[in-house]
Amino acid sequence: MDYNIVAQAYENMEKTRKRLELLEILSELFRNTPRDVIERVIYLTQGKIKPDFYGIELGMSDKLVIKVLEKSTSMSKDRIMEEYKRTGDLGEVTKISLSNKVQTTLVRDRLTVERVYQTFEEIASTAGHGSVDMKVAHLAGLLSDCTPIEGKYIIRTLMGILRLGIADYTVLDALSVAYTNDKANRKFLERAYNISSDLGKVAKLVADNGLKGLEGIDIVVGNPIRPMLAERLSSSQEIIKKVDGKISLEYKLDGERLQIHVNNKQTEIFSRKLENITNHYPDVCDIMKELEVENMILEAEAVAIDKESGSYLPFQELMHRRRKYKIEQAVKNYPISVNLFDIIYLDNQDLTNSSYEKRRKILIKIIEKNKKLKIIKNKITQDAIEIDDFLEQAIEEGCEGLVIKDIQGNYRAGAREYLWIKLKREYTSEMSDTLDLVIIGAMYGKGKRANKYGALLLAVYDKRQDVFRSFCKVGTGFSDEQLQTIYEILQKNIIKNKHVRVDSKMDMDVWFEPEIVLEVSGSEITISPIHTSNKNEIRKNFGLALRFPIFTGRIREDKKPQDITTTAEIMNEYEKQLKKVSN
Ligand code: ATP
Repeated sequence: MDYNIVAQAYENMEKTRKRLELLEILSELFRNTPRDVIERVIYLTQGKIKPDFYGIELGMSDKLVIKVLEKSTSMSKDRIMEEYKRTGDLGEVTKISLSNKVQTTLVRDRLTVERVYQTFEEIASTAGHGSVDMKVAHLAGLLSDCTPIEGKYIIRTLMGILRLGIADYTVLDALSVAYTNDKANRKFLERAYNISSDLGKVAKLVADNGLKGLEGIDIVVGNPIRPMLAERLSSSQEIIKKVDGKISLEYKLDGERLQIHVNNKQTEIFSRKLENITNHYPDVCDIMKELEVENMILEAEAVAIDKESGSYLPFQELMHRRRKYKIEQAVKNYPISVNLFDIIYLDNQDLTNSSYEKRRKILIKIIEKNKKLKIIKNKITQDAIEIDDFLEQAIEEGCEGLVIKDIQGNYRAGAREYLWIKLKREYTSEMSDTLDLVIIGAMYGKGKRANKYGALLLAVYDKRQDVFRSFCKVGTGFSDEQLQTIYEILQKNIIKNKHVRVDSKMDMDVWFEPEIVLEVSGSEITISPIHTSNKNEIRKNFGLALRFPIFTGRIREDKKPQDITTTAEIMNEYEKQLKKVSN
């Protein structure tokens, strides 16, 4: 397949801000893709060469790209730097420099998707002594056969700044349209995606055999599953009303969620975002070796504990383990407890269709055999007062609250439904919980904050439209150090114009790719003439906004932008507030 077809589709996508057009271009691209390259086209369109859990980083630095441009085009380094400064995008600079290039050979070699993909693989796997020269040579080889537009997207993909503005769900929609002629079939593709977390695999199955092809998809140990999530309610009475029958109250611990895959004593661990974090937890891998199973997938919350007392420590203490070197020392200095709460797979048996009750019984058996593992404390009940008592007990023991589970419920990968409900203590302020919001823009600060951001524009997620809508501007709650860190992290996310999937009427000094998630608390939700969250839902031309937002100090590295607080949750919270006022 000619790479030009792909590059041209990207170019068209960049020109539109309309979601429907985006979907059309994408499904057209998939229709034009031969079946044997569909996986590769999917990964490339996501800006990668494999799903995230493979841990493959393309991440080519700007220094290296500049070196290649200098070598393989007729532009001088000064001119390259000048254009880079002007456009802020080396993809654009590549396009310009290739347009100016004097063609020295008469015929170019054909640039196919297969060749681009293979070269990317070679670049990603080149490491160690002499690797820089090798990477330069690989890339220069590609660029010598590129048209300017192809060059632009090759560089953007390699630098991790492709930014086509398409969410995973849009890819699923486009695949449904391209291969089944019906967007409504997305639910079948979604199920396959929830189990495999691999859009390329889903695409290949549906391309080869249509919807029938998806039926055969099974859990594979080593491939993370998209985690089941909890809805939120704010009182024990609401919970009793919502769920029929018995429920299990479980402590909600405040740590890091681990999805532990064990296969023949080999362990791999995935985060809530499905990144491979096996290296952070060598101690967990050691424990897993002691279990007599052929294979299994467990879920646990890892919580930092005090070395002397064994009591739980705040979530931040786990950050010490996020390092490449001297991890043994970190493991010794910052011990954890592994608190299991689910089992998804055991000895070649998929347990996702078994009830919570049955899965927990299996889990207990596993714990009995190993004293280093714990199971999260629980209590089965049907009574609101018992929920309140258990919540108090959990909070006293250092937990965040409870996760309440329907004991008949199966494991619903990737779903946020009422089979799991989280309950935290009602705070004295109007808002009962913190919110997770994504940064979409910023204003520069003044005085002490000159040359840094004084306020960040935050958004909620409108899941139905797949758009991020502005919800508040936050400027308080940051320490100087946090302000600096956030400023640095955001540099790589700066984009020239407001992102295609962002809905905001505000004027900002800087716009960002929606990626970095902050935890924020606030006093209440109010009607707003400027913010666009839930616009027209309560009053015509007005949206909802967060009053007195404060950053809690926590950057939610474990959350992707599509995992943040949704407009539906905001509406829920707003309605709860209204009820309180009328009571
Ligand atoms: P939060 O922002 O409140 O931490 P979240 O958005 O990350 O939650 P939710 O589905 O809303 O995810 O809440 C469940 C999270 O709580 C899980 O991702 C897990 O990390 C954590 N957790 C702690 N204890 C439990 C438990 N007993 N069962 C399930 N999840 C638990």
